[in-house]
Amino acid sequence: MKDFDLEGIGMTSRRTRDRLVRRLREAGIADERVLDTIAAVPRHIFVDEALAHRAYEDSALPIGHGQTISQPYLVAAMTVAVINGAGDGGAPRQVLEIGTGSGYQTAILASLVERVYTVERIGGLLERARERLRALGIRNVRLKHGDGNLGWPEHAPFDAVMVTAGASHIPDAVMDQMDDGAHLVIPVGQGDVKELKRLRKSGDSWRQETLDHVRFVPLVRGIAR
Ligand code: SAH
Repeated sequence: MKDFDLEGIGMTSRRTRDRLVRRLREAGIADERVLDTIAAVPRHIFVDEALAHRAYEDSALPIGHGQTISQPYLVAAMTVAVINGAGDGGAPRQVLEIGTGSGYQTAILASLVERVYTVERIGGLLERARERLRALGIRNVRLKHGDGNLGWPEHAPFDAVMVTAGASHIPDAVMDQMDDGAHLVIPVGQGDVKELKRLRKSGDSWRQETLDHVRFVPLVRGIAR
């Protein structure tokens, strides 16, 4: 891919980004580290140039292959849930993300935790995400073309897992790859509207809370080009 306009002008400028941050704050996002990160990461390079002028609206946008970049509010809310979810109050260090998509959520997470392992089933999306992260100079992310239902066993156990696609159930392999005390943030349920849940593993049991009700593109099986 060609060069990225990282600074942005006009509808992609710093001022436009700050407006998005104000909206998120009004919508109830209060974690300053997350808000600062959203102000710093240029979302317009994660969408097609033709949509760049809409990148700082609080909405999901198409990214090709029938997929979408998540709505900034949900990116913020899920990031807050992941980085503050550790039982001891510290930020998780090794985080598995399932559903790289554009790589935007990945970039946000990468600024806040030690290392992100991200898995995407669509090869074309994964390669574009890789280029964007490289252009931003982000080096603490490992990307894999694979079926996230299987997790990433070579790098397990994880301190936290974020699933950015709507699941009908929680994949067993992912639960097995979580460390004791680790937490999982996942939109899950049978219908179109999923429950955004956070589950914490504690020995053989799980504690769960429902954070929100959300719509997401589905978590499906297998890989595609
Ligand atoms: N966080 C991304 C969201 C992308 S949408 C962003 O903001 O850009 C969800 C993504 O999950 C899609 O790219 C879709 O291809 C991917 N996905 C769906 N099922 C998957 C699976 N089983 N394994 C890995 N990725 C999957």
